[in-house]
Amino acid sequence: MAGFAKNLLGAAAVGVGSIAAYRVFVTSGGTTASATSAPKSKFTATDDYPDLKLHNNVMAHCMTPDIYARLRNLKTPGGYTIDECIQTGVDNPGHPFIKTVGIVAGDEESYSVFSDLFDPIIDQRHNGYKPNDKHTTDLDSSKLKGGNFDENYVLSSRVRTGRSIRGLSLPPKCSRAERRAVEKIVSKALGGLNGDLSGKYYPLNKMTEQEQQQLIDDHFLFDKPVSPLLLSAGMARDWPDARGIWHNNNKNFLVWINEEDHTRVISMQKGGDMKSVFERFCRGLKEVEKAIQKDGYSFMWNEHLGYILTCPSNLGTGLRAGVHVKIPHLSKHASFQDILGKLKLQSRGTGGVDTAAVGGIYDISNADRLGKSEVQLVQAVIDGVNLLIKMEKRLEKGSPISDLMP
Ligand code: ADP
Ligand code: MG
Repeated sequence: MAGFAKNLLGAAAVGVGSIAAYRVFVTSGGTTASATSAPKSKFTATDDYPDLKLHNNVMAHCMTPDIYARLRNLKTPGGYTIDECIQTGVDNPGHPFIKTVGIVAGDEESYSVFSDLFDPIIDQRHNGYKPNDKHTTDLDSSKLKGGNFDENYVLSSRVRTGRSIRGLSLPPKCSRAERRAVEKIVSKALGGLNGDLSGKYYPLNKMTEQEQQQLIDDHFLFDKPVSPLLLSAGMARDWPDARGIWHNNNKNFLVWINEEDHTRVISMQKGGDMKSVFERFCRGLKEVEKAIQKDGYSFMWNEHLGYILTCPSNLGTGLRAGVHVKIPHLSKHASFQDILGKLKLQSRGTGGVDTAAVGGIYDISNADRLGKSEVQLVQAVIDGVNLLIKMEKRLEKGSPISDLMP
């Protein structure tokens, strides 16, 4: 495996070195990336400028004709262009439930080569996070305060993140060979986990339709490639080739392979014990990283952006800690979305990001990812969800909640 990695990365390096015209970009995060010129079009940047007038995503708010003109003829070492980055945001002007970012990275270098656009987007999506800011990781679960929710309200608890293998293009751009390499590297590393973490890899193309649907219905597996965000970003190419799910025997530590990110690492269980979920998440994630490193690979990371993932909304921690929580009264309150906003929480339906909530049961999770540590984000979810439950209990009795407003 390690030999294979050297070939792979070596080949990429040869490609970069052989290109005569390149510019070197050094971002504040310290990443250096060479950008080559994309083939010149006979049309001007103005002729090619996307129509974003009716768009409500972060990319559309940050893009200007000037930025487009500067970036339009650049390419990352992996061959990714700004037009490929923004296609998902051009095709999807809005989303019914969340404000999308509208841009993806095709490789680690996209963030530096196209920083003229990514930097303002990251600033806007991540609460004013600046190009010189540094991100901290904290996976010490013993620092959490509380973390056992009232199970009359919280039905399940989950923490997920993503990790990308350095040297391989991300899902919007990866070749079939790169995608299969990710699958091989990750499934081999996971095969070495022990104790309560030991488990098995289940590739999608070896599952029956029923087995796959059951895993989706039980909330363990990503949806089929139906999301227009995924489709427009090129992340559904060759589906289901090299996609799959690894999970431990207890089905409470899971790794998705090659959906929106190379990997998504998930800890989840029924009920309200977020503390145990986060403890297993931290322990499992460290074990996965150790196993990957033992085989000579590493995760995409720098001190400015933290862990580097496909969607800029997931940079930093990549962490989404959430619960399925029953709040039929509070969710009908006029200030519900406002309350969530103040608590830095977001809501989804329980079938995933593209679903609406049914029966007053919501997926409530942290909205932030970058500039705060894992411990801080999970703590914010614990404190915030406890407050939501307190409000729900008041509303059940017909009492006001004005004194509880954040
Ligand atoms: P992600 O941010 O992990 O991509 P999605 O919104 O796409 O999340 O949902 C992926 C799957 O995870 C869905 O099946 C969803 O029901 C499930 N899920 C998310 N949060 C929870 C939770 N707290 N409990 C149980 N299942 C969850
Ligand atoms: Mg998802």
